[in-house]
Amino acid sequence: MTATGAMIETIGYAATSPEAPLGPFSFARREPGPTDVRIDILFCGVCHSDLHTARGEWPGTVYPCVPGHEIIGRVAETGTSVKGFKRGDLVGVGCMVDSCQHCASCAEGLEQYCENGMTGTYNSPDKHTGGVTYGGYSKEIVVEQKFVLRISDKLDPAAAAPLLCAGITTWSPLRHWKVGKGTKVGVVGLGGLGHMGIKLAHALGAHVVLFTTSPSKTADALALGADEVVISKDAAAMAARAGSLDFILDTVAAPHDLDPFLVALKRDGVMTLVGAPAEPHPSPGVFNLIMKRRSLAGSLIGGIAETQELLDFCAKHNIVSEIETIPIDRINEAYDRMLKSDVRYRFVIDMKSLPKTV
Ligand code: NAP
Ligand code: ZN
Repeated sequence: MTATGAMIETIGYAATSPEAPLGPFSFARREPGPTDVRIDILFCGVCHSDLHTARGEWPGTVYPCVPGHEIIGRVAETGTSVKGFKRGDLVGVGCMVDSCQHCASCAEGLEQYCENGMTGTYNSPDKHTGGVTYGGYSKEIVVEQKFVLRISDKLDPAAAAPLLCAGITTWSPLRHWKVGKGTKVGVVGLGGLGHMGIKLAHALGAHVVLFTTSPSKTADALALGADEVVISKDAAAMAARAGSLDFILDTVAAPHDLDPFLVALKRDGVMTLVGAPAEPHPSPGVFNLIMKRRSLAGSLIGGIAETQELLDFCAKHNIVSEIETIPIDRINEAYDRMLKSDVRYRFVIDMKSLPKTV
């Protein structure tokens, strides 16, 4: 822990208990140290992980909790040793704000798997203050320069915010499992992650099949770049897909039966779980794995270099998220709509709507 030193009084929105609606909260950020960047937050995307954490669905939420890890803003101030960022630059911060920087995973640019524990943007022990980290539902944030991403001015800043989590969480497994031309990919669930999964897999040249529980999303899925749409509640339609896919990305935020999806994989196919429900999925049938040497895997966000690669790819191909911009006082309603799969396809908070005082 470094000396706490002077602090900057600021404001955000916090959950104070699993049941309480989020509301205005005043707290302090550290003054930027030599390698820190202070960012005025313009927009913050709303991830289902924010809801899982704020409502205490995953273990370990420390209250008050300020969620938000899809942050876009402008550099307001840089520490004396900061290179590569200057006041006014458009920047992003995703799900991590620090890691040990010397373990094998960090050395490979896989900070999300830091063997000494990466520091999450919110609800993580804060090495600087000794408290807990507070996320992007706030006026400003102070971040170590290595965890600040460059955002092209070509991208709409509000619609680029979800690239920092929904984007990288789908990009990283698509790249790791080498999805591209000639690959048949299934995306399960059309929400924040799922719609980015479709756009990115399509841009990488794959043939994309969306599996959804919501027939009303069919036309949108095709417009986003899916080649086919399957209603996953239709057992006959699922059975007709048996043995057809190389890779499946499962983004669903609730426990569900994995077997119909595993069966849809070819021999040697891989199904990767990125959705992180609070309760486990029912165990899949072992024979569905054994008989065709299929794999069931998982993946966590993505590393910093890989996130920059994604952001640069999106700038080049003009890819952003489909968003509904909300003022911050509608965040609780947005959470309730997210639980009903009623998001098209990511809520993004316009931080101008933050109150000036609590
Ligand atoms: P989201 O926008 O709410 O989308 C989830 C989608 O899952 C829904 O739109 C819905 O799609 C489908 N779904 C089917 N049954 C559902 C049910 N009973 N309850 C909720 N959704 C259901 O959520 P998201 O922000 O994309 O996040 C998805 C999951 O990924 C969350 O669990 C989140 O915590 C996790 N996550 C993981 C990582 C990681 O690093 N692995 C990173 C970010 C988020 P259809 O209507 O098409 O069926
Ligand atoms: Zn997220």
